[in-house]
Amino acid sequence: MKPAFNPRNRLNFSGGPGVLPETVLHEVQEAVMEVPGVGLSILGISHRSDWFAAVVREAETNIRTLLDLPPDYHVLFLQGGATQQFAMVPMALPREGKAPPEYLDTGYWSAKSIAEAQRVAPLRVLWSGRESGYRRLPQDAELSYAQDAAYLHYVSNETVEGLQFSRVLGREDVTRVCDMSSDFLSRPCEAQRFSLIYAHAQKNIGPAGVTIVLVRDEIIRQAPAGLPSCLDFRAQAEAHSIHNTPPVFAIYVVLLVTRWLLREIGGLERMDQINRAKAASLYACLDASTGYYGGWAAREDRSLMNVAFTLPTPALQQEFLLHAARAGFSGLEGHRAIGGLRASIYNALTLEAVVELCGFMADFQHRHPC
Ligand SMILES: *Cc1c(COP(=O)(O)O)cnc(C)c1O
Repeated sequence: MKPAFNPRNRLNFSGGPGVLPETVLHEVQEAVMEVPGVGLSILGISHRSDWFAAVVREAETNIRTLLDLPPDYHVLFLQGGATQQFAMVPMALPREGKAPPEYLDTGYWSAKSIAEAQRVAPLRVLWSGRESGYRRLPQDAELSYAQDAAYLHYVSNETVEGLQFSRVLGREDVTRVCDMSSDFLSRPCEAQRFSLIYAHAQKNIGPAGVTIVLVRDEIIRQAPAGLPSCLDFRAQAEAHSIHNTPPVFAIYVVLLVTRWLLREIGGLERMDQINRAKAASLYACLDASTGYYGGWAAREDRSLMNVAFTLPTPALQQEFLLHAARAGFSGLEGHRAIGGLRASIYNALTLEAVVELCGFMADFQHRHPC
């Protein structure tokens, strides 16, 4: 007998790996035993099979359709997570005859990307929010981009602090690179304005193990020679993501999620509307608490994906987590870097679940005045 979907999955506000749609979990469950039409477990199908070639093709096509991606972009399914991209980007992007690349230091993950890129070559930190505790993002007037920078790198959504850009940054004549790990396919993103976008799957679109890279052909043609092949976008593109054994299972789940986005949700505009409604309810709940729940992020930079907040005392935070767990909520602990609490409301988390959390929060405040 098939185990039923545990309703606790519905209330999983984990920062990552994040929740996946219930229908996808059912399909995955079936595929672990037997992929329909193949008669084998997904865990034992060759990556050289025709079936898997079709999986890669369809996943790629779906991503192109969702983002309206021009044909001169490669869609790659790589390994090593976003952290490997922190190193691969500075190694593989051309910089000859250019000024150092420019990086924005807007939170925990961009700081990691900078530390990693600095091991490869010098860079310029264009703006840093470190001194102010990463509570806000820069405004355009605070950024003076160099025209001859090798590229600009930034993180579109700071997952830990819950800060998200709602505009595209940088100059149109400078190569633009973005880590979209925690908001990829959560909204339309004007992909054609970026030379390279990377996003691992495990926040919004699948399990850990695969990282999606969208890269413009022109960029990889100019890549320096002599890179290890697995760190070379050109070699990866030529091999169509099977340079070595790829994470077949993870790529299959990404395919199922892209089908869900296209068929059940109806595309990224619609996904964005749903995500906005979810974030609006949760922030309204913080704002209505008259400071009991303190939001981490400056109001104008609030993320639609991760809502970081605190309670008046550490003891109340502990109490909150305890009661939340008893009520069936999980994943609400804040990231260890900043503490507090965090509700991640990725694509697959429903508006109903957010409304339930808001009800729980109002009730908790009522019962635990400070
Ligand atoms: C989680 C996260 C990372 C780290 O990704 P790994 O796949 O664990 O290397 C990088 N960037 C952002 C924006 C993240 O949210």
